[in-house]
Amino acid sequence: MNTQGEPTLKQFFPVSQPSIGEKELEYVSDAVRSGWVSSIGKYIESFEAMFAGFCGTKYALATSNGTTALHLALVSAGIKSGDEVIIPDLTFVATANAVTYTGAKVVPVDIDSRTLCMDPVAVERAITPRTRAIIPVHLYGHAAQMGRLMAIAKEHGVVVLEDAAEAHGAEIGGRRVGSIGDCGVFSFYGNKVITSGEGGMLTTNDADLYLKAKLLRDHAMSADKRYWHTEVGFNYRMTNLQAALGVAQMERIDDFIAKRLQVMQWYRNHLEGCPKLRLNYQEPGTKNVYWMVCMEMIGITESIRTEIMGRLRNAGVDTRPYFYPVSDMPMYARAETPVAHDVSLRGVNLPSYTDLSEDDVRQICRIVRQVLTTVGVLP
Ligand SMILES: *Cc1c(COP(=O)(O)O)cnc(C)c1O
Repeated sequence: MNTQGEPTLKQFFPVSQPSIGEKELEYVSDAVRSGWVSSIGKYIESFEAMFAGFCGTKYALATSNGTTALHLALVSAGIKSGDEVIIPDLTFVATANAVTYTGAKVVPVDIDSRTLCMDPVAVERAITPRTRAIIPVHLYGHAAQMGRLMAIAKEHGVVVLEDAAEAHGAEIGGRRVGSIGDCGVFSFYGNKVITSGEGGMLTTNDADLYLKAKLLRDHAMSADKRYWHTEVGFNYRMTNLQAALGVAQMERIDDFIAKRLQVMQWYRNHLEGCPKLRLNYQEPGTKNVYWMVCMEMIGITESIRTEIMGRLRNAGVDTRPYFYPVSDMPMYARAETPVAHDVSLRGVNLPSYTDLSEDDVRQICRIVRQVLTTVGVLP
């Protein structure tokens, strides 16, 4: 209430917002002023070097976005028409679309109900003589079961491309995601762990794969004969402007991740223990970076979820639904994935960003509990 006794504008909590500080402004201005506004410039090399160091890989290659990084990784690994690529059914559609761009067939498999990442048993069942690659997605910041997936891949002679678009800094067995498979792929879209506006990164320890990807990123232009091209490449380059933003964010990434863990703990303090609610899981031996706060409601229907999301929005709390199974979308073949189908309709993501305060989270959780009580999910 304000002094006139009218209700003041309620605060609105978005699901996501980037944390942009002085360094970001300074580096981007510097890049603009330097005149190096396209895809040559000092920030690109710095961003790549910093990111390789962060992941613990020999190489990192910046791209225009995460989807192009995925496509570039697949093409560089030799994936083509006639091949099959196994992906988890619950993921952002870009994982599937990048496979489709190569002409290969998308084979979606079911997920583990706790980690929400691909189920290695389902992967093993889906392997055929045409399988060429597996793309584990480290969904919502939780690392997929890389140990078992790498063993399966090795046994069948297929490559593993990690879709780490949502999991910068996540770990399993003490190793960072993006450094375990043959190649890793990251996104720096505005709502990701760090942002460069739009942007992506390919990480690898494989020199051949790196060089191939680097060549294809720039229209496969011959290194010793300019404007001579030996195959069909792409323009998937990142600009120096994007990289300037990325470098500033890299300087703060450890703090961002620490803060995400803190925000998750605040949510746990206020919501855990409520009957019928389940928050993000963290498998022993993994480090979840909690890209999105996940709240699953046990036993609800999709229409109740829609009502809950509408009521939360009216009360100033934005949410988003879990991803829908890729195999339900009209351009992909249907798949038998009961876990993905069940969990997909019962989950929402709550406001998840670095600049949330403890008081913000307390307010959000109070509204969540009120709404869930109103619709009868909580007693
Ligand atoms: C964001 C995202 C991508 C794509 O990244 P863009 O930078 O938006 O192209 C790919 N896979 C997953 C799982 C994502 O969340």
